[in-house]
Amino acid sequence: MKPAAFEHHAAGSVEEAVSLLAELADEDVKVLAGGQSLVPLLALRLASVGHLVDVNGVPELTTISNGDGLRFGAVVRHRQVERSPEVAAANPLLAAATRRIGHTAIRNRGTIGGTVAHADPAAEVPAVLALLDGSVEVRGEGGTRSIAAADLFDGYFTTTLEPEELLTSVHVPALPEGTGWSVQQFSRRSGDYGIVTVLATLALDGDGRISAARVAYAGVDAVPLRSSVAESALVGQTASAELWTAVGHDAAAVLEPGSDLNGSAEYRRHLAATLTARALQQASERAGGRA
Ligand SMILES: Cc1cc2nc3c(=O)[nH]c(=O)nc-3n(C[C@H](O)[C@H](O)[C@H](O)COP(=O)(O)OP(=O)(O)OC[C@H]3O[C@@H](n4cnc5c(N)ncnc54)[C@H](O)[C@@H]3O)c2cc1C
Repeated sequence: MKPAAFEHHAAGSVEEAVSLLAELADEDVKVLAGGQSLVPLLALRLASVGHLVDVNGVPELTTISNGDGLRFGAVVRHRQVERSPEVAAANPLLAAATRRIGHTAIRNRGTIGGTVAHADPAAEVPAVLALLDGSVEVRGEGGTRSIAAADLFDGYFTTTLEPEELLTSVHVPALPEGTGWSVQQFSRRSGDYGIVTVLATLALDGDGRISAARVAYAGVDAVPLRSSVAESALVGQTASAELWTAVGHDAAAVLEPGSDLNGSAEYRRHLAATLTARALQQASERAGGRA
């Protein structure tokens, strides 16, 4: 099928994109980034638009900078993130999570800003933002504002961005020195969306005790979730295989995933428990643990 007719506007700058979004606000306007989610929706006529504001030609949205954490222009491609030596050094977890997105052809076009704005509950990068307390910067006619990950994801495929706001950059904190990390995912086939994805970071003190822990999930709720159950059960404990299993079990028990064609709620909780234990094991090994 072909999409219904729409008008295409190629923006050359952030200012131009923002003023087009404001000007066309009453005429069903959307931003076009990599098009890897939006174009199939339009082609299948599951969505329709009057106007697309294409931001692929905006140079200031294409840069990666590394200072106080990593800052990505919104149209940085997934492939750039996964292959960047700067990202590998500052945040290998982000590179590994990005590598799990679809196939190479999709990652060649799909963008970091697009996946965050699209807010698919199974998507990897939103879960990285939740895990590491990342944030985004957005620009509207009223100015620029920063939105923390905890305030950004608002429900299935929904964020707190206003329709006339452009997401301009994504900020992902660097992993502190010595932090172990893991990305664990279960999907039916390589390249499919994960049914459940678990992300974890751990830091150990000199005695093998856990001094810091973060655990986040994708695919178990309408938004990416942090696990306060897991995080509070881990800190202060000594790394061990028994601990990973017990924490995985307890963290999964409080999840309330939905059921769909890919799996029942019970199956998703089972995956979450198993993948959490694996993620903690791998993160502890990378942090120098001996579990
Ligand atoms: C076969 C297939 C498999 C896939 N597998 C995965 C997967 O495993 N994991 C995963 O996370 N993704 C997956 N994707 C999605 C893909 O990774 C896209 O990169 C992502 O969903 C959207 O990025 P995009 O740049 O293509 O955005 P687009 O498709 O261009 O836009 C998506 C939405 O975000 C809005 N938007 C985009 N950029 C901005 C911006 N800067 N400001 C405001 N709004 C904006 C658009 O208006 C639109 O509503 C898959 C896609 C396909 C086709």
